[in-house]
Amino acid sequence: MKPGDILLNNNKSNAFDVIILGAGGAGMMCAAIAGQRGRKVLLIEHADKAGKKILISGGGRCNFTNLNTLPERFLSANPHFAKSALSRYSPQDFIALVEQHRIAWHEKTLGQLFCDGSAKQIVEMLLDECAKGHVELSFGQGVREVDHGDAIFRVSYGDYTASASALVIATGGPSIPKMGATGFAYDLARKFGLKVVEPRPALVPLTLGGDETEFRSLSGVSAQVIARCGKAEFREAALFTFKGLSGPAILQISSYWKRGGDIGIDFLPEAKSGWLLEAKRTQPRISLRAVLAQTLPARLADILAERTGLAGELANIPDARLVKAEQRLANWRFSPNGSEGFAKAEVTIGGISTKNLSSRSMEANSVTGLYAIGEAVDVTGWLGGYNFQWAWASGWAAGQSL
Ligand SMILES: Cc1cc2nc3c(=O)[nH]c(=O)nc-3n(C[C@H](O)[C@H](O)[C@H](O)COP(=O)(O)OP(=O)(O)OC[C@H]3O[C@@H](n4cnc5c(N)ncnc54)[C@H](O)[C@@H]3O)c2cc1C
Repeated sequence: MKPGDILLNNNKSNAFDVIILGAGGAGMMCAAIAGQRGRKVLLIEHADKAGKKILISGGGRCNFTNLNTLPERFLSANPHFAKSALSRYSPQDFIALVEQHRIAWHEKTLGQLFCDGSAKQIVEMLLDECAKGHVELSFGQGVREVDHGDAIFRVSYGDYTASASALVIATGGPSIPKMGATGFAYDLARKFGLKVVEPRPALVPLTLGGDETEFRSLSGVSAQVIARCGKAEFREAALFTFKGLSGPAILQISSYWKRGGDIGIDFLPEAKSGWLLEAKRTQPRISLRAVLAQTLPARLADILAERTGLAGELANIPDARLVKAEQRLANWRFSPNGSEGFAKAEVTIGGISTKNLSSRSMEANSVTGLYAIGEAVDVTGWLGGYNFQWAWASGWAAGQSL
């Protein structure tokens, strides 16, 4: 089955074993597994096609998993919650599926796996797996109402109604509303009495203002850095933008940053302790600006040197001031005044509270037959294929239990 081959559910009233809301990565995986286990599954997607975020992911090549998947690389109010699902459906399981579908892939960096061809192949693969499980798909119809009574869920969507003893919330989080992302999952969860951990944008560029506005003039300049926030640190590229800071190191650290807090940037992660005193000894006539420009882009070196207030030749600067400057360059404090918000966030931190869900099946503790999976749940991965691995693993866990 290909995207666009729509098996439309067009009966006025339909009884299913399972209704899944949202045909993203998590919803399709869950539908395929439950369908292949003999369940009669209806998958309802309000967009006109499945897997829109998969299609735009990884620059169109979908960074579909990460070989270094570890529970510690996921953020949640309960850091233990993701362990069970992640251990039962691993990156190797997804790779086996990808290979079974003859999709060529490669490792780019840091364990990140991408399709050689196109992200479309991943969507086609998941739709093929749904077809194997005889999953009925409905595209382009918004969910109007969800009722629950006598252990049956009734879903009204478009002109149709369907019922099932199990309902899966797989409608993702509110990141990138332009693509149809909504807070629907949270509203539905709250309707059933589940708690929602306050959602906030993650894997998102940070904005600079006030005294740090000057750094925005560096738009387009990048450097290999270590970005830190609390105990988290990421050694990757940072990029200055006309609004503030971006690049992989910043996107990663943004998930740990909270409004009002600082982040630290080590602009010279390769430099050995004492490097500036050593520079004074070996190149006494050089300025701080010039010594920084040996490693960093010239425009960045200019601003950093100016802000440290150390002008002139290193030979004329007291050692104590050089030691202080070195420390500052290794832990440059930025106080972002915000982020670029859900409009630019790759994912959402927070979501349906894991306290209300079984970590094994993703079923709600208090509502039999109600499940939540994927980004809708309060589990958020690092940048680099971790979020799709959570979508596959949580979808698989629910699919096995339905
Ligand atoms: C630009 C971008 C690039 C990304 N790249 C990567 C990457 O390379 N690797 C990675 O691991 N992660 C990546 N991510 C994150 C990843 O896309 C998400 O974590 C993942 O898609 C979550 O899967 P999901 O199925 O839970 O939710 P989604 O993919 O968001 O799917 C939810 C589905 O529900 C539908 N829906 C919403 N509301 C309703 C409703 N009321 N009724 C019916 N349907 C509804 C939506 O249209 C959507 O199809 C990227 C995200 C973005 C925005």
